[in-house]
Amino acid sequence: MKAKLIVLGGGAAGLMASCAAARVLEEPGAVLVLEGNEKRGRKLLATGNGRCNLTNLHAAPEHFLGDSKALPPLLFAYTPARIRSIFDAMGLETVADGEGRVYPRSMQAASVLAALVREAEQCGVVFQTGKNVVSAVRTETGFRFVCADGSAFTSRACVLAAGGAASPKLSLGEGGYALARSLGHSVTALYPALTSVLCEKSRRTLRPLSGVRVSASVSLYAGETLLAASDPGEKSEVLFSENGVSGISVFDLTAKAYRVLAGTGGCTLRLDLLPDHTESQIAAYLRRVREEYGTSPAGDLLLGLLPMQIGWALVREAGADPNAAAASLPEDRLLKIARLAKCWEFPVTGTRGFENAQITAGGVPMREVDPMTMRSRITPDLYLAGELLDVHGCCGGYNLHFAWASGHAAGTAAARALLEERL
Ligand SMILES: Cc1cc2nc3c(=O)[nH]c(=O)nc-3n(C[C@H](O)[C@H](O)[C@H](O)COP(=O)(O)OP(=O)(O)OC[C@H]3O[C@@H](n4cnc5c(N)ncnc54)[C@H](O)[C@@H]3O)c2cc1C
Repeated sequence: MKAKLIVLGGGAAGLMASCAAARVLEEPGAVLVLEGNEKRGRKLLATGNGRCNLTNLHAAPEHFLGDSKALPPLLFAYTPARIRSIFDAMGLETVADGEGRVYPRSMQAASVLAALVREAEQCGVVFQTGKNVVSAVRTETGFRFVCADGSAFTSRACVLAAGGAASPKLSLGEGGYALARSLGHSVTALYPALTSVLCEKSRRTLRPLSGVRVSASVSLYAGETLLAASDPGEKSEVLFSENGVSGISVFDLTAKAYRVLAGTGGCTLRLDLLPDHTESQIAAYLRRVREEYGTSPAGDLLLGLLPMQIGWALVREAGADPNAAAASLPEDRLLKIARLAKCWEFPVTGTRGFENAQITAGGVPMREVDPMTMRSRITPDLYLAGELLDVHGCCGGYNLHFAWASGHAAGTAAARALLEERL
């Protein structure tokens, strides 16, 4: 089968690229999307816990990591307002929360996927699903793709948007890196990012905390060297499990310190459970409660400030018996509890890997594409978009923002080039 433009990958970036290209070409059947799964946009449906945090009002270059130096032209062209207006034009209204995270008004990722598919089909995009492309070759006249089922497709131009290595169950194995390599691109080392960290902490501490959520500031240290931290004054959710810690603030640390975390460990996660309080304020609070409620268990001393399980864990970690009467808690233990509430340390042993990661750090270097058009600087008529590029962001809608922006830029530029050639 033949098409003018083949978009390889029917995820966020590929769907957006196909819509943009079809709007320019205005020719039914000119754009063909090859998607390896039976369903399009599987990962998109899982985003934002099913609500799809599709961009962020603060999406600007400083919120992106990896090979992001080349990003400003793309991000200045695709502001959050422009991304919202692209969806608005598709009939999908969006709303922003207090922290700038933008969601569809319906709060359903399914609406975002349905709006993209409706737009693509309305503009004459053709979809072939269940087409796992195993070979991509640049020919004299364009591209030839062969799928695992033996079917073959040719096109004049290609947008490669086959995604990354994160959460492979929601996409297709290892993403588009092998295809990018076979089309002449390089791929930097790949790391899981936005994922949970595994911690070396006694089962006695972690097990009772499993499932407990708390708002905290987090930081990551190698010895006394700060590797990454929550933004000053920021506190967001930390979630404990039996063998580690996750939650937005921890995910964000893994986006910033992915290389160190992939190594042999040797770093420590520090939680400030009460960023709005000083250590001496906490100690004063503990003394007051100890005096007033001396007969109740020491484990309950912090119940007015923190989830109960955490209060008990801190008392235990300070070397005191949480079941003993609060009045019996010695001053040195009380001071230790106050110190732990401000700096609770968890030696890190690694991360939960690609299986549980939301995004891949690393990929095709941005310098191998033109950042305005996403056109390959290496292979003619090839455009790249989305997670397979070496750009990633923290939690909050930045990664989808990049998928939409790069996909729209790639689709538009590929279609314009095809029109100029009058093929
Ligand atoms: C659980 C989870 C929650 C997330 N939540 C958010 C969020 O709320 N906000 C946010 O900004 N980001 C979020 N992300 C990240 C976001 O999903 C990605 O940044 C985004 O999906 C990347 O888009 P993409 O099109 O590059 O890749 P994908 O969406 O992965 O699409 C790539 C597509 O290509 C197909 N494909 C791959 N190889 C082949 C092949 N050989 N042949 C044919 N097809 C192929 C795949 O099946 C897939 O459909 C989340 C990620 C996960 C895993």
